[in-house]
Amino acid sequence: MQIMITFKTPDAVEYALEDEFSSYERTCGDGECMDDDPNCPDCEEVSLKVDEQMEDARTFIEQFVQHGEMVNILFDTNENTATVIKRR
Ligand SMILES: [Zn+2]
Repeated sequence: MQIMITFKTPDAVEYALEDEFSSYERTCGDGECMDDDPNCPDCEEVSLKVDEQMEDARTFIEQFVQHGEMVNILFDTNENTATVIKRR
């Protein structure tokens, strides 16, 4: 037997991305610079790379999560599996 269930959790993706990327360094490594230092172009570059990584992660997740909050899971009692179904 297969049963599809849609789970909806508003803001779950945003919270997860925030959780993951808030700990990423946004400095050039120069001891003088603060996190995301507005006066240092190297820090700005590092910060932009972190933003890019976050966007890539968001794009990947969006293949599976509709509207940033809904996910379809197919439960299969014969196969003993639960599979996240890519959105269409
Ligand atoms: Zn810097």
